[in-house]
Amino acid sequence: MSIKVQNVTKKYGHQKALDNVSFVVNPGEIIGFLGPNGAGKSTMMKIICAYVPQNEGEVEVCGMNVSENELQVKSRLGYLPENNPLYLDMFVKEYLSFVAGIYKLENTEQRVAGVIEKVGLVKEQNKRIGELSKGYRQRVGLAQSFIHNPEVLILDEPTTGLDPNQIIEIRNLIKEIGKDKTVLLSTHIMQEVEAICDRAIIINEGIIVADKKVSALKNMQTGVKKLMVTFKNPVEESEIKKIFKGESLIKISDIQYEITAEDQAKAKNAIMQYALDGGHEIQQFTEAGSSLEDVFRQLTIGKE
Ligand code: ADP
Ligand code: MG
Repeated sequence: MSIKVQNVTKKYGHQKALDNVSFVVNPGEIIGFLGPNGAGKSTMMKIICAYVPQNEGEVEVCGMNVSENELQVKSRLGYLPENNPLYLDMFVKEYLSFVAGIYKLENTEQRVAGVIEKVGLVKEQNKRIGELSKGYRQRVGLAQSFIHNPEVLILDEPTTGLDPNQIIEIRNLIKEIGKDKTVLLSTHIMQEVEAICDRAIIINEGIIVADKKVSALKNMQTGVKKLMVTFKNPVEESEIKKIFKGESLIKISDIQYEITAEDQAKAKNAIMQYALDGGHEIQQFTEAGSSLEDVFRQLTIGKE
């Protein structure tokens, strides 16, 4: 087991940030640690990395108890903290050499050159970190997290605050780095989990509410069903509204509408009847079960 969290509780004053949390991460897995802001993700990650002590419970990393083997644990895992605090005045290469120095690594120069190459910072290596775009700063953060070749990587919201292109680049980089490592990655975005993870552990208000393979999460029934209808020619929204008084209706375009209905078959029949009566040709029906976002919302926001 790469990470084993057993009955961990953490309180800040009277507030419980983590409430009896347990999960395991197996070697080689890329796990999405998912939850809304304030759910307890960063707190859990800091405890795994031995930066913050828990009040109750045990955490093991690579078979070692974190509280008892702080230094050994830190040498076996890499950590990219939330908001990636970096020394903006330092040059990229200088900073990474400094980190390599902290770990007392041998062949520092080679190591630094290796990670710079791996994260695609060759051209930027002699720039100040402060001059880099956010996406490139995040590459520096990733580089420092695995410079000592750890077995386990803990990445706290690695793509938050990046633009869409940077997000894709960083995700690809994580997939690449994660090939021969165990990765626990926190995010508040469900799609991120779908894009890079094998399994999702969902936390809400300090409690684990789901721990499932991404494919299994997708199959979870939420009761929300969507029906997308595409007409051949434009259809007035007011006309469609007449058929679906109580249901939620979203106009996607002049020819496309999305209906959320409890009884999909009934909704479909009603549209077909409408199309038949009015001479509107239907081009396509798409029935969608609950999306991953729906599952996440239901698990973390509450009862719908
Ligand atoms: P997440 O990373 O999922 O957004 P956090 O672990 O940062 O969640 O926070 C969990 C809860 O603990 C939040 O309610 C937050 O306000 C609280 N919290 C986090 N750090 C501290 C701290 N140092 N002191 C007091 N409360 C904290
Ligand atoms: Mg956080």
